[in-house]
Amino acid sequence: MPIYLPPISRRGFFRRTMLAAAGLALGPNLCAAEKRSDDHFWALFSDPHIAADRALIHNNVNMADHLAQVAQEVAALPVRPAGIFVNGDCAYSSGEKEDYATLTGLLKPLRESPIHLTLGNHDNREHFWNALDSDPTAKRPVADKQTLLITTPQVNWFMLDSLDKTLSTPGELGKPQLDWLAKSLDANADKPALIMLHHNPGLTDGVPGLKDTAAFLEVMRPRRQVKAYFFGHTHAWSITPDESGIHFINLPPTSYLFKEGKSSGWVRATIADDGMKLELRCLDTTHKQHGEVNDLKWRV
Ligand SMILES: [Zn+2]
Repeated sequence: MPIYLPPISRRGFFRRTMLAAAGLALGPNLCAAEKRSDDHFWALFSDPHIAADRALIHNNVNMADHLAQVAQEVAALPVRPAGIFVNGDCAYSSGEKEDYATLTGLLKPLRESPIHLTLGNHDNREHFWNALDSDPTAKRPVADKQTLLITTPQVNWFMLDSLDKTLSTPGELGKPQLDWLAKSLDANADKPALIMLHHNPGLTDGVPGLKDTAAFLEVMRPRRQVKAYFFGHTHAWSITPDESGIHFINLPPTSYLFKEGKSSGWVRATIADDGMKLELRCLDTTHKQHGEVNDLKWRV
């Protein structure tokens, strides 16, 4: 069973909160009727860079506050997402144990939905697993990698692990993971496949990405079920069509800005029969990119 934060049911959450906070007033959301989950709606987060110290600031951004704000916004929506993805660089810089404790605390308001996480070059796999893996004895799809396949009625999500070495900028999938991807894509060819991993293809605006980009493209391009490749790492929102028709989607950071003025926030993905709508939700609602909607059609 791959690692993820399983949903906490409202009743269980309510009971635990009652026990933990006996005598205290409950937030209004806990008293509301159970919210409906929309199985077409996915919340996409990348590059939160959360440090153990919640007060840490980079480029005038308090990373923890930003993630808390994103979590609050998603939690306040009238429907729950089918799932939430956190696409790597979960930890601030070197993947310290305590960074992950702060991260899970910040994600708590979203725990009614499953939360799937993967690793970036600022994470430490052992610390990540120690902090988040609820079943360390379970067999992983690819040994020593944080790899998962999430099958849903509409699409199949493949979340890959491109962490090569902590604090070394480029990433790598490696042959065993690419072989697993090829095999799993072939075995699940009946639905659109959406692939998510931390690193960008090749070199993007001077940022070194995946070292084995060529081998990765060789797996993806000929398999027509692959419709989109989501990545983070460059901390810059963009959507670029690949020559194969696969959409290359660069997710914005929830928190850590490379430069002041860049967009930060999250992406609301809505699955349709023949594509996907992506809406950029900036934390700064006056940002010129806030609310930008892209209607992507799947290649055939
Ligand atoms: Zn990052």
